Amino acid sequence: TANNSGDDKDCCVKVAVHIRPLIGDEKLQGCKDCVTVVPGKPQVQIGTHSFTFDQVYGSTGSPSCAMFEECVAPLVDGLFQGYNATVLAYGQTGSGKTYMMGTSFKDGSQTGIIPEAMKALFSKIETLKHQTEFQLHVSFIEIHKEEVRDLLDPSLANRSETTNGNVGKLTVPGKSAVQIRETSNGVITLAGSTERSVRTLKEMADCLEQGSLSRATGSTNMNNQSSRSHAIFTITMEQMRKHNSITPSDGNVNENVNEEYLCAKLHLVDLAGSERAKRTGSDGLRFKEGVHINKGLLALGNVISALGDEKKRKEGVHVPYRDSKLTRLLQDSLGGNSRTFMIACISPADINAEETLNTLKYANRAR
Ligand code: ADP
Ligand code: MG
Repeated sequence: TANNSGDDKDCCVKVAVHIRPLIGDEKLQGCKDCVTVVPGKPQVQIGTHSFTFDQVYGSTGSPSCAMFEECVAPLVDGLFQGYNATVLAYGQTGSGKTYMMGTSFKDGSQTGIIPEAMKALFSKIETLKHQTEFQLHVSFIEIHKEEVRDLLDPSLANRSETTNGNVGKLTVPGKSAVQIRETSNGVITLAGSTERSVRTLKEMADCLEQGSLSRATGSTNMNNQSSRSHAIFTITMEQMRKHNSITPSDGNVNENVNEEYLCAKLHLVDLAGSERAKRTGSDGLRFKEGVHINKGLLALGNVISALGDEKKRKEGVHVPYRDSKLTRLLQDSLGGNSRTFMIACISPADINAEETLNTLKYANRAR
C-alpha cells in the first residue's frame, strides 16, 4: 500500500539475502546444502555463524517471486515522488546476480528484476499519463578496472551481431572515455555515454538486451570479463504535471510551474564478483583486475555501512563516495533521500561455504 513507503522513510538501506537453488553442476559434484534459514525469520545460518537481514529469499525463506513486490516495487513507486533509488546485486561469481537482475538472455526471454521494474514503471505511467507528461532515458554502462564503458555505444551493437564466432578482438568495448561529473547542485551525470530516449516498454527492453549482449561479447571469455565488472542499468524519469489552465483569465502566468517538475533515477546494478583476488587467477594482469574491483566493492561497503548507521548519519560522518568510480557514480542515489536495496546472492553449496560466509559478513555490515 501507499503507506508502506512512508513508514520506512528513515530506513534508507535495506538488505536481503537471496539463496539460489543448487544448480546442475553442483549436484553432479555431489555438493551438500550448507545454508539454513531459521523458519519464520529473516535469519541465515552457516556453520556456527548466524546473520539476520531485512528479508531472506529462496531455499526455505520467502519465495523469490515475493522479492520484487516487497523490495523493488516500492523503489519504482518512489521515482514518481522524485526519490532516486539503487538496487545492488552482490555476491561471488556464480551466485545468481545476473540471473536475478535479468541481464542474461540465455533463452531469449527477459525475466528478473530489471524487466519487472520496467513493466511496473510503464504500467504506472499508463495510469498517470493523462495528467503528467513523462520523459524516460536509459543508460547502460560497465565499470571495469576503474574505467567506465558505454554498453549502448551503437558501434558495439553492430559488431556483436556480425562477429559471432571470433568476437575476442573485435568487440572489446570502446575506450570512449565516459566521465563521471557532478553538477553544482550535486547531481551526478555521465559525460560521453549514450543516453537513449525511450517511449515504450519495448524500446527500454531493447536497450537492456543490446547492452547485455555488448557486455557478454565484450571479451574473449565472457565469464572473466563480466565477473570482474560492475554493470549499471540506469532509468532516468522526468515528470511534468500538465495544467489544464496554465494561463488563468487574469492573464497571470502560473508561477508554481517549477514545482510540477520532478526528475528521479533508478540504478540497477549487477556488481562484480565478490570473490577474492587470489581466486581469480595467478597472472599479474588478472590480479590487478581483482584489486581494482575490490576497490569498488570495498568503497561500496564503506559507503553503505556509513549510511546504514543512523547515529553516524546524524553526526554527519564523512561518507567516502570518492574512493571509487562505482560509489562516485551512485553518489546522488545512495543516502540522502534515496533508497537503496542490496541483495546478497549466495549459493547453498558446501564448496562455496567460504565465499558465502564472506558475502553474509559484507551484507551484514551493510545493514
Ligand atoms: P553470477 O552473475 O552471480 O555470476 P549467474 O546469474 O550467472 O551468477 O548464475 C550462475 C548459474 O546459476 C547460471 O547457470 C544460472 O542460470 C544459475 N542460476 C542462478 N540463479 C538461479 C535460480 N534462481 N534458479 C535457477 N538457476 C539459477
Ligand atoms: Mg554475472
